[in-house]
Amino acid sequence: MTVAADVSMERELNPWLAAETRFNEAARRLEMDEGLQKVLRTPSREITVYIPVLLDDGRLEVFTGYRVQHSIARGPAKGGIRYAPDVTIEEVRALASWMSWKCAVVNIPFGGGKGGVICDPSVLSQGELERITRRYTADIIEFLGPEKDVPAPDMNTNEQVMAWLMDTYSMHTRQTTTAVVTGKPLDLGGSRGRKEATGRGCMFVALEALKRFKLTPETARVVIQGFGNVGGMAARLMAKAGFKIIAVIEYDGAVYNSNGLDIEALMKHAKERGSVVDFSEAENMDREEALFLETDILLPAAKENVITSQTAPKLRCKILCEGANGPTTAVADEILQDKGVFVIPDILANAGGVTVSYFEWVQDRQGFFWNEDLVNTRLEEIMVNSFRDLMAYSEKHRVNNRTAAYMLALDRVAFAIKLRGLYA
Ligand code: NAD
Repeated sequence: MTVAADVSMERELNPWLAAETRFNEAARRLEMDEGLQKVLRTPSREITVYIPVLLDDGRLEVFTGYRVQHSIARGPAKGGIRYAPDVTIEEVRALASWMSWKCAVVNIPFGGGKGGVICDPSVLSQGELERITRRYTADIIEFLGPEKDVPAPDMNTNEQVMAWLMDTYSMHTRQTTTAVVTGKPLDLGGSRGRKEATGRGCMFVALEALKRFKLTPETARVVIQGFGNVGGMAARLMAKAGFKIIAVIEYDGAVYNSNGLDIEALMKHAKERGSVVDFSEAENMDREEALFLETDILLPAAKENVITSQTAPKLRCKILCEGANGPTTAVADEILQDKGVFVIPDILANAGGVTVSYFEWVQDRQGFFWNEDLVNTRLEEIMVNSFRDLMAYSEKHRVNNRTAAYMLALDRVAFAIKLRGLYA
């Protein structure tokens, strides 16, 4: 590869540039005022904190933490907190705006936020993680709150981290305030159905897309990349709904059965062996080869930048349902459009998670908890309505689904800003 090709590939794989490309395209098509574009491109607030923490070996270390509130125009900022060695303010800033668009696409009353702490959780003890979490929370406390900013888990943070955050906030405010954070344990104000929500949301929008191809679940083949929370849950629920999951792709290989995999048995196998490969009721397959199988639905649910200018030309799916965040590059978008692939963009397809987080926040504030059926029914309603809104928008403006999703999101946030007006 030449240097120029390297540089352009690096640019293609930069998710923030991809988000910017999509923002620009949507703003241009909406003929959005330059000033309003500036407001939407700029976060409302960025907080950096330096967190002194006593390590188990007696040393004192200082960690850097960020919280970015991109927009609070439609409601409190909403978004995860990640712990990773390579967290940067640029990344957190971009992810915060991503959350504004995602919440707007599914029309839930939240803005966008994101947080992160630069640390390596793999070398930290539970005690050290707890101290980092509590001090980080205390240092940003005046900016948090059920009506201000509601964090959630993200990379390397979990229910326990959310419980520490909730407890720290509650100790400072002298009252238990479960609605300050979502993704909590069920016994501390978490919601039923949250664990399955993202995968379930993918299934709901996939079902809607199938109707457009006059297919039924029983006649639809599905290839899923990633067998973790999103991919595993989607596989389990879609198999139950009658879909034929013909291949599952993991980081160390893929398995294929043209008649459909027994997902429950594959889950058991993966749990016992630590891998999906060598499953007795399927053939092993090369990971790349499996991605290019002829299928009705391809559901990438592993990581970003899977569908690029290199891989997109070889895809043979009718519907691309983006369970992961940013699985498709902006360059690949054009290739998919030319190939006529029906894309359900990530900011809609994987919004089931944040939607049930919204339900968690509602239930905490009500102090009344819903059964799982109610959670799932309301999730279905939001996902299906959002899918239909998106289709209407893309037809009205004659744009592809990705551009329509960004246009719809920008339009909704801009509308809220205009309605509220600028204060002082
Ligand atoms: P996870 O860690 O539970 O699962 C990811 C799976 O993908 C793992 O099993 C991993 O082994 C596999 N994987 C990693 N690299 C791979 C590769 N190159 N090829 C094939 N498989 C590979 O994570 P998750 O929570 O399921 O998240 C997956 C994606 O969905 C991420 O992009 C995440 O940001 C996005 N997402 C998750 C949620 C949620 O509620 N968990 C919500 C919205 C978006």
